[in-house]
Amino acid sequence: MKILVLNSGSSSVKYQLINSVTHKILCKGLIEKIGEEGSFIHHINGGEIFEIKENIKDHSRAIQRISTLLVDHKYGPIDSLNDIDAIGHRVVHGGEKYAESVLIDEDVIGTIRENIKLAPLHNPPNLKGILSTLELMPEKPQVVVFDTSFHQTMPPFIYTYGLPYDFYKNFRIRRYGFHGTSHKYVSLKAAEFLNQPIESTNLITCHLGNGSSITAVKNGKSFDTSMGFTPVEGLLMGTRSGDIDPAILIYMENDLNYTIPQISDIINKKSGLSGVSGISNDMREIVKKSEDGDMRAKLAFDIFCYRIKKYIGAYMFSIGMVDAIVFTAGIGENCISTRESSLKGLEEFGIIIDKKKNRNIEKGTINDISAFNSKIRILVIPTNEELMIAKDTEAIVKNIK
Ligand code: ADP
Repeated sequence: MKILVLNSGSSSVKYQLINSVTHKILCKGLIEKIGEEGSFIHHINGGEIFEIKENIKDHSRAIQRISTLLVDHKYGPIDSLNDIDAIGHRVVHGGEKYAESVLIDEDVIGTIRENIKLAPLHNPPNLKGILSTLELMPEKPQVVVFDTSFHQTMPPFIYTYGLPYDFYKNFRIRRYGFHGTSHKYVSLKAAEFLNQPIESTNLITCHLGNGSSITAVKNGKSFDTSMGFTPVEGLLMGTRSGDIDPAILIYMENDLNYTIPQISDIINKKSGLSGVSGISNDMREIVKKSEDGDMRAKLAFDIFCYRIKKYIGAYMFSIGMVDAIVFTAGIGENCISTRESSLKGLEEFGIIIDKKKNRNIEKGTINDISAFNSKIRILVIPTNEELMIAKDTEAIVKNIK
């Protein structure tokens, strides 16, 4: 099946046309700076890269432009939009309603709308992309894949915060978790690699990118995850603080006279690797400066790796038996020293990294970097959220045909 995967952000739309059977990417691209000056299309077709400068005033125009590129004789791999079997959309927040990907209907659109209050930056542009696509290709089956749905299997004692229960009952304040599509994808890949059924596979999946989260996967299902009500909780990230004492925020407002928007800006955009180091949110810079002797870069790196170790430890106890620890996303797949430091000193627990294998990763494939005597396997698995969306879309659409 040919599946068009769309990821609509606030000022960008990412797209891929994927053959969901062969897993081949037929073409892909990114429209950036939508509604701004200098908007452009970065498009790849058959290995050829195109940069098209063009005024794209809104999401509706962006989706329309993608549809014309796909069938263009120079840019596109297909002759007609009829060649597209279905469309899969990434949506960040599905709240508590959806534990699986779903075919779009009025009810799903209503839920995405309802959850705008839980994901005010993400759900509105996600919805704009969906509505524009529905307008342009109303006859095509369209599927929504939520970042939160994989984590809907968490039990109440894990997703409920220790606040008065009414905050959950009346306002749905609870742990939701994010990066679900990536955690699910690498879990399936890990089970396949380990040659065992996903239903009896226990994993700790570390998605380490600009945003980072760790998930405890018990019998193939999300049991606990480090991100919470919002993506700020958990690990140290590029610019997000991760776990902090919530009373710090009250202190910032009451005693240091910061406003709520300022505090939000601090914990979301000015903290993390960037805030601690004062250098950058990019792990490559942090590692380089840290090796050059910069103390704050080293501190940021140490906090980052320590938190990974701490969550791995907690999740090992929480799920009991672990088959493998999986590293994925920009930092997880590429940063040798993060993998080495976060697993350092865990040999007694059966987690032993092979330093040579860790340094010689073959890109684009699954790498087992555990030592021969490691009880728990350590895997580096390239994530592929678009393929996961395409596979989910294919599975749902096959059922309705
Ligand atoms: P996003 O969360 O934006 O999707 P990615 O998963 O693409 O992020 O990860 C981006 C991060 O990956 C960058 O901020 C960078 O720090 C890190 N990264 C990429 N390549 C390397 C590398 N070779 N070494 C260390 N870090 C890397």
